[in-house]
Amino acid sequence: MSSATTHKTLATLLATLFFLGATPPGDEKRISIYSTVATYALPVVDRNGREYVGLLEIMEPLGRVSAKAEGQHWKLRFNDVDSVFLAGKARGRIRGRDADLAAPFLLENSRGLVPLNSLSTLLPRFLGAPVNFHESARRLFIGDVATQVRVQLDAINPPRLVLNFSAPVNPTISTEPGKLRMVFTRDPLVPPGSQTLAFDNKTITQTTFSESNGAAELAIAGTAPLMASFSNNGRTITVALAPQGAVAGAKPALPEPAPSNKQPGPAVSAPAVAGNDRRSVAVVDPAHGGEERGAALSDKLAEKDVALGFARLLRHEMEMRGFSVLLLRDGDAALTLDQRAGAANAAHAGIYLSLHASSQGTGARAYTALLPVEGEAKGIFHAWNTAQAPALPLSRSVAAAIVSELQKKQFPARESTATLRPLNNVTMAAVAVELAPGAGGVDDLPSAEYQQKAAAAIADAVASLRDRLGAQP
Ligand SMILES: [Zn+2]
Repeated sequence: MSSATTHKTLATLLATLFFLGATPPGDEKRISIYSTVATYALPVVDRNGREYVGLLEIMEPLGRVSAKAEGQHWKLRFNDVDSVFLAGKARGRIRGRDADLAAPFLLENSRGLVPLNSLSTLLPRFLGAPVNFHESARRLFIGDVATQVRVQLDAINPPRLVLNFSAPVNPTISTEPGKLRMVFTRDPLVPPGSQTLAFDNKTITQTTFSESNGAAELAIAGTAPLMASFSNNGRTITVALAPQGAVAGAKPALPEPAPSNKQPGPAVSAPAVAGNDRRSVAVVDPAHGGEERGAALSDKLAEKDVALGFARLLRHEMEMRGFSVLLLRDGDAALTLDQRAGAANAAHAGIYLSLHASSQGTGARAYTALLPVEGEAKGIFHAWNTAQAPALPLSRSVAAAIVSELQKKQFPARESTATLRPLNNVTMAAVAVELAPGAGGVDDLPSAEYQQKAAAAIADAVASLRDRLGAQP
């Protein structure tokens, strides 16, 4: 749980927001190029009612390349292939032979632009190999790079959709009512046998493949909130019902961080806890997940995996003490910090427990939020970042009780504060517990016996304060 890890998580989140917020479909045109040596995206410009792209920029990641403008001539050398183009003419020469363009070559500030729809004839002349250009979607495949997907619906109850990919993938996942969307920008995903697969199932009804503006999308339609989890080193995505009969359209208790951003909705929706005393509802959040592995505890041990095992044991211990538990991920899913906070707040639980692990130090640490100092800044950003404020005294009581129970079980434990998201975005009592090695060293961390002892101490501590949980407005 180093601050570097936290920063990386935040950076990942910001990158996601930037992508979703700043590149609405249909705006800024681009082309994605997938090859065995590089995957990259380039801007596409409109000139004289046609789409153009810089030829040097296309070739640069693919080999040794140089270009120079001499008057109206533009010469490009790629590996050992020479070419020349003339501004305003729809014909150039490559390897000493004519090459026709669909529209005139353009020279702008010594930058050579070619019509987009000439790439599938030009590039093979340079590369000496065919290319596969999905022109309307602006996705260019060079060499044997396609990632295939096999889609399979397990019509068990509840049903789940299993997507097996021929290579690891890293889509951006978002949800909206009735739909879970996966957008693949850097993955050379090609359509499954059929663009639309309809299922004879009441819950997961259809999968649709589409591609546009340099990206591919898989949209999964469902009649209940869905969530996606990764496994098999990113080669398998399983889409299933969001946990515990989640309620569609559940809203976080606070406004979204910014009114304008197009943040994906929580991949995890709130459970239906109506009629359930919130003092008895606990949210358990195994930190990290998916691509975001957390700290490397040893050569083979990732923090995200220890956190998940620890969280499952804590769920059991809490349930034994009469709590109903919402586990925010019960697999290797990637959740943003805002998704975690949003799901916790929407659950109206009495306690939020975030679990981390570290190879540093011994025993365990219980963290409460260190809130940003009150300043001039007001408004919903500020409200979101200080949502924890009313619950903080209770959070500190819980942390103190956890430390005391851990010490009873011979864990060297201490209390600390940290600017650790999403603690400060959570409206209920919120504590992060970081498990560190005991006398057995790092091998203790994945040990179920060791984890169980810590989980029992945490559950005892929370249960001892049950009457005070959920007292905030
Ligand atoms: Zn961590």
